[in-house]
Amino acid sequence: MAEFLESTVEVAVSMLVEGTFTYAVPEALASRARVGMRVLVPFGGRRTTGYVLGPGSLPAEKDIKSILDILDETPLFPAGMIPLFRWTAEYYKHPLGAVIQTALPGGLTVSESAAWAITEEGRGRLEENGLPPDEARVLGLLAEKRLRSRELRVRLGPEVPGTLLRSLERRGFVVQARTLRAGGAKALQERWVRLTSGAPASGRLSPQKRALLARVASAGALPVREVAGQAPHAGAHLRALERAGYVELFSRRLYRDPFGEAILPDAPPRLTADQETVVSTVCGSLGKGFRTFLLQGVTGSGKTEVYMRVAAHAVASGHSVLVLVPEIALITQTERRFRARFGEHVAVLHSALSQGERFDQWVRILRGEVPIAIGVRSAVFAPFSDIGVIIVDEEHDASYKQEGGLHYSARDLAVVRAQQAGAVALLGSATPSLQSYHNVRSGKYNQLTLPQRIEARPLPAIRTVDLRQCRDLRGPGRFISAELNRAISETLGRGEQVLLFLNRRGFASFPVCAACGAALRCRHCDISLTLHQAANAYRCHYCGFSRPASAACDACGSPRIKRLGMGTEKVEAAVRALFPKARIARMDRDTTRRKHEILGLLKGLREKTIDLLVGTQMVAKGHDFPDITLVGIICADLSLSFPDFRAGERTFQLLAQVAGRAGRGEQPGQVILQTYNPEHFSIRAARDQDFEAFYEQEIGFRKALGYPPFARLIQLRISGRDAQITREQAEALGAQCRALQAGDPAFAKSIQILGPIEAALARIAGHFRWQILIKSLQAAVLHRFADRLLAGHSSALTGRQVRTVIDVDPLSLM
Ligand code: ADP
Ligand code: ZN
Ligand code: ZN
Repeated sequence: MAEFLESTVEVAVSMLVEGTFTYAVPEALASRARVGMRVLVPFGGRRTTGYVLGPGSLPAEKDIKSILDILDETPLFPAGMIPLFRWTAEYYKHPLGAVIQTALPGGLTVSESAAWAITEEGRGRLEENGLPPDEARVLGLLAEKRLRSRELRVRLGPEVPGTLLRSLERRGFVVQARTLRAGGAKALQERWVRLTSGAPASGRLSPQKRALLARVASAGALPVREVAGQAPHAGAHLRALERAGYVELFSRRLYRDPFGEAILPDAPPRLTADQETVVSTVCGSLGKGFRTFLLQGVTGSGKTEVYMRVAAHAVASGHSVLVLVPEIALITQTERRFRARFGEHVAVLHSALSQGERFDQWVRILRGEVPIAIGVRSAVFAPFSDIGVIIVDEEHDASYKQEGGLHYSARDLAVVRAQQAGAVALLGSATPSLQSYHNVRSGKYNQLTLPQRIEARPLPAIRTVDLRQCRDLRGPGRFISAELNRAISETLGRGEQVLLFLNRRGFASFPVCAACGAALRCRHCDISLTLHQAANAYRCHYCGFSRPASAACDACGSPRIKRLGMGTEKVEAAVRALFPKARIARMDRDTTRRKHEILGLLKGLREKTIDLLVGTQMVAKGHDFPDITLVGIICADLSLSFPDFRAGERTFQLLAQVAGRAGRGEQPGQVILQTYNPEHFSIRAARDQDFEAFYEQEIGFRKALGYPPFARLIQLRISGRDAQITREQAEALGAQCRALQAGDPAFAKSIQILGPIEAALARIAGHFRWQILIKSLQAAVLHRFADRLLAGHSSALTGRQVRTVIDVDPLSLM
C-alpha cells in the first residue's frame, strides 16, 4: 500500500495544465498524506483539487505553496497505476491531472451525496470571528462534524444555498469529502448446501440420504432450492444431515440481470480440443512476463469460455483479471456469464450503474476484495495493483475509442497496461481490427484461433442480392427484394424469428423538394434532415435540430417534399404492410430512449412475442437470440460511402457481426445481404465470412496510401462559431505546423502534413470544422513533433473563440 510521505509532495492538478507541481505538506496534515489521495491546493490564485503522486521534487526549504487540505481518508488509486496515468497523459497529449480525473469514477466531487467538511483554514477563520452570520453558522455546524447538503438544509432551513457553500469552498474554508464505503447496495441472498470438511462416514444413512449426500458431493455446492424440490422429503433429509454434521448450509449472494431474473451459477463445460489448445497456450504464459495474444474465433466458437478459463487460472495463481467489453445497451452476454461463473468475485463497471454503485465497485477493487473486474472502456483504469491478464472482448469495437475529453483507445491502453504490469493481454474477436491483425503478421502479437462454432454448428449461409436488379421502383419492393420477401415468409411460417438490419434510423433520410430539388438541411449542420414519422418531424442526427413534418422547402417555399432515402422506420412500415399478421418491432435509438423500452424488446425476442425485429447496429452486437434463423441486411452499402479510410473495414466488421446473429441455436441460419455493390471486396469478404481475404485486400490499400497500420496519425480538429475566424485559426495552425516541419531535418524527412481542410461534415451544431492531419511512419518522430507543436504554439491551441482538439490515433477522420 501507499506510504506516508515526506514534507513535500508531487501533485497533478485536475486542470488543463501541463506537468505536475510540488507542494509542501503542513505538519498537521503530514501524517495523513499518502499517494493516491486528493488534496486541495492553491493554484494560480484559485483553489483546486489535485492528486498526490509521490514525494515532491523540490526541497521543503524552498519557498513553495502548501496543500490546504487532504480530501480523502484512504487513497483512491494504488501507486502502481501512476506509470499508466503518466503514459496516457504523455501519449494522448492530455494533462496528467485531467487523465486521473477521467480514470476515477465520477461522483467524487458531486455535491448532494458528498459530505461537507471544514478545513484547517476554515477552523482558523471561524475562531477569528467576524464572518457573516450565515457563513459562521455553516462553519460552526461543520466544525462539529461532516454534514451532507441535505443535512445542512434540515438544520438551517431550505435557504442554505449552494452558492454559499461553493463560496466557502472557493475560499478554502470547506471541502466536499467523500468517505469510502463499500457494499451499500442491497444484496439478495440464497441458501446453499455443501459437505462439511470432516463429515462422518455415510455408511449408516438411509439410501435417500446417501443419494442426497452423493449429489451434493459431486456438485461441490448446490442451492438448497434445487435439492429440496427434487425428491419427497428432501428438505427434511437435508436438515437431518445438517444436524448430524454431514453438510452445512451457507448463504450466497444471488445476482439478477436487468430482466430481474436470477443469474444462476454455472459449471464449466468440457473444453473442445480447440479451446483446450488456446487455453493452455495462454495459461502457459501467465506469470511469465508481458505477451499479447489475438484470439480470432468465429461467432459462437466459444471465446467467452476461453476467457473464463484463463481468468480462473490467473485468479488461482493469485492475480487479478481485467475484462473489457464493448459499450452496448444493458448487460452483455459476457458480463452475465462471468457473473454466473465467478459470482461475487466479479466487480462490474459500466455506465448503467449509478455513481454510487460505480464508486462502491471501485472501492472493492481497490481494497483487493474482488479479483475480477469487467467493464466498458474506462474500466481499463480499474485500480488493481497485481494484474495477471487483461482480456479485451470484441477488440475491433469502435466503442473502445473515447471521443471527447481525453481521447484514448481502451484497447490500446489495455496492451500498454499489460506491458507495464508484465501481464498477458488477450484480445478476442471474430473480425479483428486491421491494426491487431497486422501486429500478428509482424510478430508483435501471438495468434490463436477457434475456427469452428461449438458443436460444429454451421455458420450461416450468406447470399447476396443485387439491389440494382430490383426493378420495382415504387413501393416496398424497392428495398425488400423478392428473395428476401420469400425468405421472411418461409421463416415466419416455420415459427422462427427474423432480424432485418439497416444502419440508419428514421423514415426518410433524404427529403428533397419536389419543386426545386433542394434538399431539406439542418440549419446548424452541414447535413440533411431525417424525417421521423413517429415524431412527425424532421430531425438532425447531429445536433437534434427539429422541424415539423409539415415544413416547406427553405429554398422556394413549396410544401411538396419527396421523402427519399430510407431508415428503419420505413423498413418497419414496409414489412408491416407485407406481413400484416407478423408481430413486428423496431430497435434503434428512437425506440429505446428509456431502459425499460429496450428491456421490453429483448424480452419480447426471448419469449417469442416478437416475430420480426427491424434494427440498427444496436442489434448487431452482444445479444444472443437462438431462434433468429434469418438475418436480412437491407442495404449493406450505407457505411461504405463514408469519406473515411476505415469505411471498408467498418463495413466488413458490421456485416460479418450482423450475419453472425443468425443460427446461433439448434436451427441453422441464413443471411440475405442486399447491396448495390456486390463486387466490392468488403462485401464479398463479409459474404464469405473470410477475414483473411478482407485483410489481404485492405492492407494493400493502406500500404499504398500510407495509412494505419503503416503510418501513425494525429489529427488536429479546429472548430468555432465564426466561419472566418475559425478558418484563419486553422490556417495559422497549419502554417505553424509547416514552419516546425521545415525547421528540423528529421521532421522534414518523415512528417507529412495534410490540410488544413474543411471537415467532411463542415458544420455541426453551428460550429465550423477544420482539420489538420499529421502523418508519419515513425511514431516517435510524430510524437516529438506534436510535443514541440504544443510546447511552442500552445496559444493557437487554447484560443478563446476557436477550439482545437488533439486526437492521437484518430478512429474517425470525419
Ligand atoms: P463466442 O464468444 O465465440 O461467440 P460463446 O463463448 O458465446 O462464443 O459460445 C457459444 C455457445 O457455446 C455458448 O452458448 C456457450 O455456452 C457454448 N459453449 C462454449 N464452450 C463450450 C464447450 N466447451 N462445451 C459446450 N458448450 C460450450
Ligand atoms: Zn424547393
Ligand atoms: Zn444539426
